[in-house]
Amino acid sequence: MTCGKIDFACTRCRLSKSRTRVVPGVGSCSSPIVFIGEAPGREEDLEGEPFVGRGGRLLDKAFKDAGIDRSDVFISNIVKCRPPGNRRPRKDEIEACSRFLESELKAVRPRVICALGQTVVTSLLNKKGKMAELVKTNMALNVAGIDVRLFVSYHPAACLYQRKNFESFRKSIEASLKAANLGR
Ligand code: URA
Repeated sequence: MTCGKIDFACTRCRLSKSRTRVVPGVGSCSSPIVFIGEAPGREEDLEGEPFVGRGGRLLDKAFKDAGIDRSDVFISNIVKCRPPGNRRPRKDEIEACSRFLESELKAVRPRVICALGQTVVTSLLNKKGKMAELVKTNMALNVAGIDVRLFVSYHPAACLYQRKNFESFRKSIEASLKAANLGR
């Protein structure tokens, strides 16, 4: 299910020119937690759903290990259209798209946000840092007028070939779910 307002014909930034489909967040609109990724990749762009590619399968595995299903939570991205060649979304693209993530957050009203990767934390906190340090984040934050607890994990793509990162990723997902009273 999608939550909040999404413009499926949006032309607010240059990503609209190269995208196949706008990819809204999906999941439970009453989820106590929202997972926020960076941007759709190739498979997401074709299917119109977030995290359905290889990274998504790792996210599903971490959910399964924690005893939940992706349909129990809400999963979205800071930008809803695929950047060409999977480059990082630019600041002006993130800004142009922020109203849609805000609308989703206002509809879901989560208690916890888990930021998946560095680009997402940087955009939420306006500061850069090393991932090895950022994954320790457990802090209060106001996003879109909503008081949440912020957790940070590695981006699933950073875990595809790095077993160590996947272990850290799994722990961050588990800790964020626990803070939202989900999982085992
Ligand atoms: N990576 C992301 O950040 N988001 C997706 O939806 C897919 C891959």
